[in-house]
Amino acid sequence: MSATTQTQPDRYVGRFAPTPSGYLHFGSLVAALASYLDARAVGGSWLLRMEDLDPPREMPGAQQAIVETLERYGFAWDGAMLRQSERQAAYDAVIEQLLDAGLAYACTCSRKQLEAHPGPYPGFCRDARHDLQDAAIRLRVPQREYAFVDRVQGEVRQHLGREVGDFVIRRRDSLIAYQLAVVLDDAWQGVTDVVRGADLLDSTPRQLYLQELLGLPQPRYLHLPLIIQPDGHKLGKSYRSPPLQPHEASPLLLRALRALGQQPPTELDGAPPPLILAWAVQHWKAVRIPRTRTLAEAQLR
Ligand code: GLU
Ligand code: ZN
Repeated sequence: MSATTQTQPDRYVGRFAPTPSGYLHFGSLVAALASYLDARAVGGSWLLRMEDLDPPREMPGAQQAIVETLERYGFAWDGAMLRQSERQAAYDAVIEQLLDAGLAYACTCSRKQLEAHPGPYPGFCRDARHDLQDAAIRLRVPQREYAFVDRVQGEVRQHLGREVGDFVIRRRDSLIAYQLAVVLDDAWQGVTDVVRGADLLDSTPRQLYLQELLGLPQPRYLHLPLIIQPDGHKLGKSYRSPPLQPHEASPLLLRALRALGQQPPTELDGAPPPLILAWAVQHWKAVRIPRTRTLAEAQLR
């Protein structure tokens, strides 16, 4: 054995993290595809994580449908899929740690009270020392700006105190908030690169703060243009977009590639998904992703 330390080879771990509140749609395909290609193009691994932390909003059958759709569209992930619902103990331990350190506190504000104060949470319960029973838990945010350089969107800055305020990490119904779970899981799974929709750009500074607070590494970020319907509705949010159909795999993969600025040759029309993905891995150029936060689906047909 050599006495000199080997430098770690550049490691890339990417992931796709769908929420089973509905089926995958074209916007989800763009996110799955970009995260997959960005990982595979450098020989990295690609993980699948089911973000099933909100049972009331989960659609029955969605988890299985998501997995089947990904398979049908030719995606293969490394290792077993992780379900966030399996990670409750890890989230609870961190919540307790944050409470003990005085970094988080119980908030008993009603929806009505909060509605009267739109914008960042005004901090009513900051020093109230409420009982944890029937209370939400909020994280104190510092009065400072968090900034990062997104690989597509460029520099992003947000002042947590002025623009976000103390945010909820555990809801009153004791469900864990996305912000906390995503940070803990990305670190736990060794994720080095987060590739996801630009709808989460505004969440990233909160996640940077959590990483700093918990001493976790900061992944690189790439936020993709969000696919919107011609009428301006966000896919899958306020408007129910059509689920991805099995028989449309090839044309929709090609359309998703074009949405990402890639240039699949016409010879790939009608090719089976694995062939399209193989071409796309070989020719992936992240620099071609359009630097815009939204993209109208109608322009891609
Ligand atoms: N589960 C989130 C969603 O489906 C994505 C989380 C992430 O990529 O950070 O919108
Ligand atoms: Zn409160």
